[in-house]
Amino acid sequence: MAARREKKSEERSHKNTQNGAQAPQVQWGRAWEVDWFSLASILFLLMFAPLIVYYFVMSCDQYQCSLTAPLTDLLTGKKHLSDIWSKTPTLTYRAAGIYAVWVAFQVILYVFVPDFCHKLLPGYVGGVQEGAVTPAGVVNKYEINGLQAWIITHLLWFANAYYFHFFSPTIIFDNWIPLLWCANILGYMVSTFAMIKGYFFPTNAKDCKFTGNFFYDYMMGIEFNPRIGKWFDFKLFFNGRPGIVAWTLINLSYAAKQQELYGQVTNSMILVNILQGIYVLDFFWNETWYLKTIDICHDHFGWYLGWGDCVWLPYLYTLQGLYLVYHPVQLCTAHAIGILLLGLVGYYIFRATNHQKDLFRRTNGNCRIWGRKPEYIECSYMSVGGTKYHSKLLTSGFWGWARHFNYTGDLMGSLAYCLACGFEHLLPYFYIVYMTILLTHRCIRDEHRCLSKYGKDWTRYTAAVPYRLIPGLF
Ligand code: NDP
Repeated sequence: MAARREKKSEERSHKNTQNGAQAPQVQWGRAWEVDWFSLASILFLLMFAPLIVYYFVMSCDQYQCSLTAPLTDLLTGKKHLSDIWSKTPTLTYRAAGIYAVWVAFQVILYVFVPDFCHKLLPGYVGGVQEGAVTPAGVVNKYEINGLQAWIITHLLWFANAYYFHFFSPTIIFDNWIPLLWCANILGYMVSTFAMIKGYFFPTNAKDCKFTGNFFYDYMMGIEFNPRIGKWFDFKLFFNGRPGIVAWTLINLSYAAKQQELYGQVTNSMILVNILQGIYVLDFFWNETWYLKTIDICHDHFGWYLGWGDCVWLPYLYTLQGLYLVYHPVQLCTAHAIGILLLGLVGYYIFRATNHQKDLFRRTNGNCRIWGRKPEYIECSYMSVGGTKYHSKLLTSGFWGWARHFNYTGDLMGSLAYCLACGFEHLLPYFYIVYMTILLTHRCIRDEHRCLSKYGKDWTRYTAAVPYRLIPGLF
């Protein structure tokens, strides 16, 4: 049986040689066999994720953010789908113009403005940095200038809001649904382009994966690090620019809309802006660290990242602010302080856990975690060319408490944003439900990959740190 499996895998590595290049594949990257559950989930997401986004945004636009009212109207025959659709704002030239300028501006900041923040800000790591070793043994270089892009964009935003007045700070909210169509167009275009590129002109053929299943390849991507030219990296750009830079601007636009509608900005809106602002700024301050996260160093670039970063992230990660425009919640002081504390403690755990691993890996274990020498398990893995690499798995600090305590901190922060919206509606709680599913699934996906990568060393690690998210529970 084992011999048959070996032979099958050998056959597969030859079958997967596309583009005329000999591209044998190793075990520990993304899957190259699609099980029925993954395929069913992928088909479900391809069909329903765009509808889910539309449903949430439409329910705010037409039903004051009630998730049940549109369904009730449809089921009782009070309204037809065509009634809802006819009330939905269409694509406009204005939205298309705003979106085109936005994306073009972010491309310019990403490609043509080398980082100067690392020269000015003590402790900030930017400029040209290296990513992780890919399964084919490639180490890519990246220009880390996201913090700079974020600062320039926000300076311009504030300069316009308080001085130039070229456009209203409510511009994003006012064009929210027309902009959704633009984001979808870009999301589908970039994912389709990435698929074609993977087949016909990949950046690195040895890091491509072809499962033979069209839907899986479209969703999960073929190329690992598609690039145009030396510096335009699709994964870093789409993951880390148009959507995430916009996240804080979208929230500011919601706050401006509250001010316009009610003459004041509620404390819940301020809390959401502050807590999510910290999360976004953290991302940019630690962009170099981000090169070592699963998104960049394990996921291939397909619809999941391409469409997800263009549409899912800016539209669904900002639902709390959108909700608060329709329902301006003013929290009592105790409630507000409780949420702020939950958000900050969650953020601290998220950041400290990520920092411990980063420090440990960067110094190859020559560091101190909680004032002590780190404890770890030595492990090894093979690259595509058969080269053996050595690595270490940290088992002390937060990494001794659980195998993904960084996710636990993230979930606490996510819960804080939702709680800021009170308890009247379900819609703002979508985020914590989604993050719980995403991060639990990610845990399992990552551990599966790590097991194939490290083999028995990973088993020793899971014996040393038996829990995933919550010590003693899960
Ligand atoms: P991790 O930062 O936990 O990275 C997992 C990888 O780290 C593993 O694949 C393995 O990679 C390595 N690793 C695992 N255990 C250890 C250990 N004990 N010691 C050293 N290295 C180890 O996961 P993510 O990249 O998914 O997440 C990074 C952060 O981003 C998290 O805080 C998460 O909450 C956040 N996040 C947020 C999302 C959002 O949408 N808001 C989405 C996804 C993540 P290797 O092969 O190098 O050994």
